[in-house]
Amino acid sequence: MVKEDTPEYVVEEPEFHDYSYGLVNIQKNQWLDLIRRGTITEKDIEYLAKFYASPNHASNLKRLAELEGKHPSSFITSCTSLGRKVSEIFSIPSIPREGKPDSEKLYPIVFLGRSLSNGLFEWKLRPELTAALEETYPQILAAETVKMEEIEEQEAAKLSVEELLIRARNSRSGPADTYTSTSQQRRRNPLLQLAAKARANGVCQLCGATLGFKDKQGRPYLEAHHIVPLAEDGPDELSNMVALCPNCHRKMHVVRDQDDIAKLIALAEL
Ligand SMILES: [Zn+2]
Ligand SMILES: [Zn+2]
Repeated sequence: MVKEDTPEYVVEEPEFHDYSYGLVNIQKNQWLDLIRRGTITEKDIEYLAKFYASPNHASNLKRLAELEGKHPSSFITSCTSLGRKVSEIFSIPSIPREGKPDSEKLYPIVFLGRSLSNGLFEWKLRPELTAALEETYPQILAAETVKMEEIEEQEAAKLSVEELLIRARNSRSGPADTYTSTSQQRRRNPLLQLAAKARANGVCQLCGATLGFKDKQGRPYLEAHHIVPLAEDGPDELSNMVALCPNCHRKMHVVRDQDDIAKLIALAEL
């Protein structure tokens, strides 16, 4: 592969910076204490989870408010009041932020910050606080992350292709953040998966294709599919299963065409 020169529109964003200049040194256990003692309230968790759910656990206050359909002042008030409570408990001296409003002097207690090339300022949850939240509220954080992904996807779909590509090229590389999913999974019986595929005998039961690729054992590659999804209480039984080529399998999940479903039901009962 030829390595291209970095195009001009790719911007290196700065690392996040401690705008408390070392005055804040709160460890995970201390954040956990604040959560246990109720200094960080359930209301605080609500908006902290929104930062958590944003890429890099960071967001711009105005952008976050826009995405949530709220006025920025609601976030500003909350972040300021939490910063004030924490600074009082730990007797943190006033953080200098010359010429900035009082509120901005309190954000660095809870957040790291960085100034983006587009002029926006991003606040990122302190890593020690992030770890404490993950330990205490994994479900809330997971639910918020899923919600935020949907919102970000809707927003991205509004962009022009050009803008979309510029933003994608400027998004940070490296391993993606993790979060602990707490969704329930259905058990599936591997024997039935194999049986459904054996019954189809290498032929996709929707399109009849036999031209797909072969797996490492040289067998035509098919995927077992539940006509009524397990997640919707469909039975894990051969009479609810078919074997499909990967393309048709995706189609069944994306399009859910009624004629296709009727055709597969008839075949599954054989
Ligand atoms: Zn097919
Ligand atoms: Zn399926």
